[in-house]
Amino acid sequence: MSKKYVYLFSEGNRDMRELLGGKGANLAEMTKAGMPVPQGFTISTEACTQYYNDGRQINDEIMGQIYEYIGKMEEIVGKKFGDVSNPLLVSVRSGARASMPGMMDTILNLGLNDEAVEGLANLTGNPRFAYDSYRRFVQMFSDVVMEMSKTEFEKIIDEMKEAKGVKMDTELDADDMKALVVKFKALYKEKMGKDFPSDPKEQLIEAVKAVFRSWDNPRANVYRRMNEIPYDWGTAVNVQAMAFGNSGENSGTGVAFTRDPSTGEKKLYGEYLINAQGEDVVAGIRTPFPISHLQEQMPEVYNEFVEIATRLEKHYKDMQDMEFTIENGKLFMLQTRNGKRTAAAALKIAVDLVDEGMIDEKTAVLRVEPKQLDSLLHPQFDTAALKAAEVIGKGLAASPGAACGKIVFTAEEAKEWAERGEKVVLVRLETSPEDIEGMAAAEGILTVRGGMTSHAAVVARGMGTCCVSGCGDIVVDYDAKKFTLGGKEYKEGEFISLDGSTGNIYGAAIATVEASISGDFRRFMEWADKYRQLQVFCNADNPHDAQQGSDFGSEGIGLCRTEHMFFEASRIKAMREMIVADNTADREKALEKILPYQQGDFEGIYEVMGERPVTIRYLDPPLHEFLPTKEEDIAEIANELGITVEKLHNVIDSLHEFNPMMGHRGCRLAVAYPEIAVMQTKAVINAALNVNKKLGLHIVPHIMIPLVGEVKELKFVKDVVVKTADELIAAAGADMKYEVGTMIEIPRAALTADEIAKEAEFFSFGTNDLTQMTFGFSRDDAGKFLDYYYENKVYESDPFAHIDQNGVGKLVEMAAKLGRATRPELGLGICGEHGGDPTSVEFCHKVGLDYVSCSPFRVPIARLAAAQAAIKNPRA
Ligand code: PEP
Ligand code: MG
Repeated sequence: MSKKYVYLFSEGNRDMRELLGGKGANLAEMTKAGMPVPQGFTISTEACTQYYNDGRQINDEIMGQIYEYIGKMEEIVGKKFGDVSNPLLVSVRSGARASMPGMMDTILNLGLNDEAVEGLANLTGNPRFAYDSYRRFVQMFSDVVMEMSKTEFEKIIDEMKEAKGVKMDTELDADDMKALVVKFKALYKEKMGKDFPSDPKEQLIEAVKAVFRSWDNPRANVYRRMNEIPYDWGTAVNVQAMAFGNSGENSGTGVAFTRDPSTGEKKLYGEYLINAQGEDVVAGIRTPFPISHLQEQMPEVYNEFVEIATRLEKHYKDMQDMEFTIENGKLFMLQTRNGKRTAAAALKIAVDLVDEGMIDEKTAVLRVEPKQLDSLLHPQFDTAALKAAEVIGKGLAASPGAACGKIVFTAEEAKEWAERGEKVVLVRLETSPEDIEGMAAAEGILTVRGGMTSHAAVVARGMGTCCVSGCGDIVVDYDAKKFTLGGKEYKEGEFISLDGSTGNIYGAAIATVEASISGDFRRFMEWADKYRQLQVFCNADNPHDAQQGSDFGSEGIGLCRTEHMFFEASRIKAMREMIVADNTADREKALEKILPYQQGDFEGIYEVMGERPVTIRYLDPPLHEFLPTKEEDIAEIANELGITVEKLHNVIDSLHEFNPMMGHRGCRLAVAYPEIAVMQTKAVINAALNVNKKLGLHIVPHIMIPLVGEVKELKFVKDVVVKTADELIAAAGADMKYEVGTMIEIPRAALTADEIAKEAEFFSFGTNDLTQMTFGFSRDDAGKFLDYYYENKVYESDPFAHIDQNGVGKLVEMAAKLGRATRPELGLGICGEHGGDPTSVEFCHKVGLDYVSCSPFRVPIARLAAAQAAIKNPRA
């Protein structure tokens, strides 16, 4: 039996989104509810997929069905394609399962040709209107379907106006419009090498192909990747009879929302134009009236519209975004959908709908996109100022927020300038751990290289600082203190602005406003917390970040990266002494100097977190990261350390590795130098003992050994930890418990998780390294070639941002099972960047982890994502 690819509006309903797209399903639903909808049909998403499978061809079967449905449609609306007395004209619009700006524009008035235009003129008694519609159609078809440039058409209109000595389009009469059509068609022939298609069916097929093609245009591909919409969904095409909002003073067209999409306020919000067609409202050439004005102008139409809008909102139980047209005093609904809204509006609407008894709390929790909350947590650009600003370049949207400041090129300058009260944006080729203080001082960070898990991106997200990374178009000249972008130079001290949510870079200062957290936000998050089953921790390396995470509702710290504590100027010297030491005794001496600092940091964190779990991860990066690279720094630091330049060079050379990410790092450092683990254990245990005593608490330290791949290596380090810890606890006469666990971030650790669990009391999945090691590509460099993978549809999304469920995820799931088989009470969490990514959080919920841990600013997002995961897939 042949497959059905085409559906009349009267054959569908709202549950057929997958097949008919959102627009098609809603048109069908409104039709079913007896609302005034110009009738038509929807070509299904499966037809789109088939089009691609057939090598971008509409096959005969689908073509046959489209022709068949044109016939059915003609019967239903009582008009015929190309008819001289009563022509059928249609609009053609794309409509995917999820609403997708970035796809094809609408085509209106399709079906017009030299005969039909006369029919339209006779029917309306308005030849000017008919020919105006015709010339618009030729223009729109050429632009949208054939991808010709608009400007040449505009030029022809301008020439005509000049020849006639008039200024406005409205001053052109019917004959002028007729002449324009002739000129437009001539231009079409010249550019396309063939006549403008006069057969409405041919026009329609071309338009349908254009919609299918638009599914794969660059804008759509980028939008899909950002929103994790699968490529194989395809788009539907809606063919709908035209209603003419431009057929006189008793006609019009508009858009309206049942609630204010920017504030969520409950009132009809929207605008309309009299005597106009859809695109006129969007084009912004004429200033539309607010929808309330319609009440005076056409009270009956207004009342009917309000009644329909109210019904639609009740029906969909959500704020609706509707398009309508009035043709000679009669209202037609062209579309309805759940309206897009700001985060603040989303929260208010969700909370209000619960209060109005329309939805329950769980439904409300599902209504807000977790990622959207982000905009409520960072400073934002002033909307009007942003609109007026010019985008000079684009990088990866690495860490959200709005930043505006003066350009500086070094971390030291960032710090110095900030200390004297300047707002700065730090521009670097890439950042490294030693830039940390400058990064913290900057309003925003812009890098030329690096992907979503590059140092700059990870650290910036951790700090809640705006970051745009990997803008390869920038050419930096550090010496001349300037960079070039788009042929223009930007010098140190000049203002730029960054939008960390879009990756946009602006060449001027744009005003920002502080984000505020309203009462709705709190109430809404209480519901999320009520329904989630995963705990949400944060990654924090210092008391300030711990406090930030705590303020956002963090229930613990899932990852405290201790190396960040060593980079501060006061400590790095002792660290370097440790690294250049020739023997254990000297190393221990240097470590003794670091101990009080580290212990102090831990005490600060424990004081913020109290008895909530704090997972302290032992030293992880390769030691060379702590040593200088520039010749002048090497000389200075050798001097500081009291060694020769040659000796420091030797140390640096000896630490050089071809693949540092797979080199001497993680627990491998503690295997080589157990004294490092001894010092860190002293710092953790003493800090906990002190804070327990001071505040009368019962803190249970969680000590985490990184980069383990073999149980014996974990055991080796653990023995050092346990010996040191037990001695300290006994000496203090205390009865303090502590746990020793490990990160699972090397595939071998996942594969042997049953053995590792014999030694580990908890696992934390380090999915940054696990992704890197499983795919075998560098987390710092993959950004450079992943774009080719997206372009060629090899990958649909960044595996460092959204967990690769089929590969890396399989390792996580397996390790969790193996680990729990050995030790049923094994604690399980994730602390890689995926811990704050909604789809990855859902995955963590499904595979039974206990918690996710993410940067402090993503804690509310993870809380909401965890709640949604639990509501959608409740655990037993
Ligand atoms: C990880 O690898 O996922 C992790 C959290 O550790 P880091 O990013 O510090 O390597
Ligand atoms: Mg790691």
